[in-house]
Amino acid sequence: MLRDTWGELVDAAADLLLGGCCAGCLRPGRVLCPTCARELPTGGRPAWPDPVPAGLVPPWAAAEYDGVVRALVIGHKERRLLGLRGPLAGLLHQAVRAALASSEAGPVVLVPVPSRPGVVRARGHDPMGRVTARTARLLRHDGYDVTAMQLLRCRPGAVDQAGLGASARAANLAGSMHCPTELLRRLAARRTHARIVVCDDVVTTGATLRETQRALEAVGLEVAAVAAVAATRRRRPTGGARGLSSSDPTD
Ligand SMILES: [Zn+2]
Repeated sequence: MLRDTWGELVDAAADLLLGGCCAGCLRPGRVLCPTCARELPTGGRPAWPDPVPAGLVPPWAAAEYDGVVRALVIGHKERRLLGLRGPLAGLLHQAVRAALASSEAGPVVLVPVPSRPGVVRARGHDPMGRVTARTARLLRHDGYDVTAMQLLRCRPGAVDQAGLGASARAANLAGSMHCPTELLRRLAARRTHARIVVCDDVVTTGATLRETQRALEAVGLEVAAVAAVAATRRRRPTGGARGLSSSDPTD
């Protein structure tokens, strides 16, 4: 706990020293000013993509992917503003709580959507892995029997999802993740009959989440729900909705 607090202080100091400003409104100072922090939504809600990938378990999100929340996601992931990890975990925490409210009690395992190793190296950190771990700590404070485990790995070959439409994303992702045997053994040693909640930053088409669910089910694990910090506004790929831009999330 002391180490977590110290880590947050170091993150905040680094953000300040590097010429910090609020990721939401660009006001100089902390990476998230009190005004923008107060504007963050509370509670989780269903976040079905449109169209829904066949068989997707219920998805939950804390916010719409827009405004301050979008700035937080991008600032943490792309600009490595580590001080935003706390606020992002706070949002994911609400989405997971909403997801768990609709199923029975018992142990829970949070599984972050895996990042490709090259992406982690380029960014210098694994945003979802770290936010998911912090979310698990928040849930333990609430009294949940919960742990975060990075059970999945990406197979080489999948390309960056940004700019691809829903069907192209699904084709790109098919079979792109797997659960190595040693990780499955580690799960069996720590948790049996746990509810699994897949965690991601943004629900877009649901293709990444569906592939994550498939990879877990392929080794006999049952996924209860998926939870995300935010979800893009529902939209269909045809009928006048705009396409996904390169700055949109890679789900
Ligand atoms: Zn602000």
